[in-house]
Amino acid sequence: AKEQGKARCVDFQADMHARIVDQLDQERRLKTAIERGELRLHLQPIVETLAGRTEGVEALVRWQDPAAGLRAPGTFLPLAESAGLITDIDRWILRESCLTLRAWQDDDAAGAPDWITVNISAALLDSPDLPDLVTRTLRETGLRPEALVLEVTETTLMRDVAGTAPRLERLRSTGVRIAIDDFGTGYSSLGYLRDIPADVLKIDRSFLEGLVGSDRHRGLLAAVVQLGHTLGLRVVAEGVEDAEQLAELVGLGCRYAQGYHLARPAPVGQLRAAADLVRG
Ligand code: C2E
Ligand code: CA
Ligand code: CA
Ligand code: CA
Repeated sequence: AKEQGKARCVDFQADMHARIVDQLDQERRLKTAIERGELRLHLQPIVETLAGRTEGVEALVRWQDPAAGLRAPGTFLPLAESAGLITDIDRWILRESCLTLRAWQDDDAAGAPDWITVNISAALLDSPDLPDLVTRTLRETGLRPEALVLEVTETTLMRDVAGTAPRLERLRSTGVRIAIDDFGTGYSSLGYLRDIPADVLKIDRSFLEGLVGSDRHRGLLAAVVQLGHTLGLRVVAEGVEDAEQLAELVGLGCRYAQGYHLARPAPVGQLRAAADLVRG
């Protein structure tokens, strides 16, 4: 029995060891990926529902992995977070987003979106140099501050409302705007909305599930849209997957929509080509 226990212990250690080596190997691969320029910027249209115009776009990161192909953020952002690489990714996306929209607006002032939204991780929000980074990036890329919207998830905001509010106020004083992302997923009290300075409310796509045909679902969504408007926020519904959902949203007075039904995330070249086709 003693021998067996010993063998099991060795097995366990070998297993642990293999897992740690694998983890370190993946971290190293992600780090070199960032250095080698394997990250890609994809954009998803945010559509103004009255005119049907793409008024904004959301920046979404992808990893063009030579071994595994194009990878969605869910497959590498958790690793990036635990390895302390997430702020490097966010900084790259911020800069690339500003450069990309600036070039598009220079090229095609009428056809380009007015603004771009960039996801800000909790770690980047916590870094004291974020306002300087934003100011410097805007200056270096020539994008107007009003054209940049920083998305912070409700969960990130909820960590420390008192500490976060002044930091967001500082960011806003640079002229950029703030969006509350994934609204309604934090299982939180609504009190924080009083204290958090924001401009845009992005309603999580879970609010669209079961919407069509259910008065209860519609009532809840209507209340959330109304809440956003009462607070003076622009309201974006995320995850619009079909025409019925879009019609419901328009009926509720929700002015902005984002989702596969309107457009999937794509590289800027692809979005522009599609827009040119529509315009003829
Ligand atoms: P998110 O910020 O909530 O972004 C929206 C996600 O919903 C995107 O997933 C988008 O592709 C997806 N989506 C859009 N329309 C639909 C739809 O109609 N139906 C469904 N089911 N999904 C839709 P994606 O690109 O895989 O990104 C996942 C998450 O990764 C993002 O969620 C965001 O939290 C994070 N993320 C993406 N890019 C960045 C980044 O540059 N920095 C940081 N910190 N996080 C990022
Ligand atoms: Ca987002
Ligand atoms: Ca979201
Ligand atoms: Ca999300």
